[in-house]
Amino acid sequence: MQTKPGTDFSDEESQRYSRNALLDGVGWEGQARWRAGKVLVVGAGGLGSAALLYLAAAGVGRLGLVDGDAVELSNLQRQIIHYSTDVGRRKVASAAESLTALNPHCRLETFDLRLDPDNLREVVQGFEVVLDASDNFVTRFLLAEQCWQAGLPLVSAAATGWHGQLLVQMPGAANPCYRCLVPEAPSAEAVPPSTQAGILGAVAGALGCLQAVEALKLLLDRETDLSRRLLAYDGLQGRFQSLERVKRADCLLCGKM
Ligand SMILES: [Zn+2]
Repeated sequence: MQTKPGTDFSDEESQRYSRNALLDGVGWEGQARWRAGKVLVVGAGGLGSAALLYLAAAGVGRLGLVDGDAVELSNLQRQIIHYSTDVGRRKVASAAESLTALNPHCRLETFDLRLDPDNLREVVQGFEVVLDASDNFVTRFLLAEQCWQAGLPLVSAAATGWHGQLLVQMPGAANPCYRCLVPEAPSAEAVPPSTQAGILGAVAGALGCLQAVEALKLLLDRETDLSRRLLAYDGLQGRFQSLERVKRADCLLCGKM
């Protein structure tokens, strides 16, 4: 195991990342890989807050933040990257300030916009891993399609009420895509938004943390069960379930139609 930092980590970085470097499968080589890593996080809300904070803390060198909203008071019970004094500010500005305070080594690129078919390709360009931390199916479908076509791994999570779910859409003809699992957007009754069903901040945060774990593994080229499985979390029951995802021949995105 490599226990000493490489020559190009400063003393400050060596201390900051010392517990990462001790990790099985990471070392200073892995830390250097994270420092060179480029991760895009779409949504600076409940999922994105946790994911962004942990990615910055871990030392990912370049983080892209996409969000077109301003911070509202009702966001603060779950969107822990924003503070009471941030209410009314643009979310990307507020999040960037928190991330810089946490880790000034992290280079940030902010996109104060809502993703649409016209801006999607340009925003995603240049990143290696994309995290879908959005709160709507329009964005989820757009990201799934763009990432599939661009050959980019996508870590997709969702949370509502006491529940959350997580999957990784890995490029590769044999792998199932997001649309294999969710062919069409479900009705608002089937999946009520947080404005109707509420959402526990810690549940969203748990899923955001898991997204960060998957993104860090992807940067190290580690395989994950989640490329072929769905992880479902029921916070009320205290239960995780790992469910197989099947590739659909008639899938609108990845099928052979
Ligand atoms: Zn598919």
